[in-house]
Amino acid sequence: MEIICVILMAVKKDLLKMLACPKCKGDVSEKGMFILCLGCKLAYPVLDSDVPDMLVDDAWAVSKAEKAGFKHELSL
Ligand SMILES: [Zn+2]
Repeated sequence: MEIICVILMAVKKDLLKMLACPKCKGDVSEKGMFILCLGCKLAYPVLDSDVPDMLVDDAWAVSKAEKAGFKHELSL
């Protein structure tokens, strides 16, 4: 089993600016139920409303998230 370092943080609005894309370390922004990195075109799902899943392996393509209306049914 692959060991993955999982960083799950409870997000508050003012914490958003402390988040960075794990892939490119760039700025991210919130959109619907996702945290978006426009540089990588990845959408990281926010679970249970306040827990962003910042794993590249779990991220959606922004185009997929857009098609879903920036909604998902994932949870912890
Ligand atoms: Zn990125």
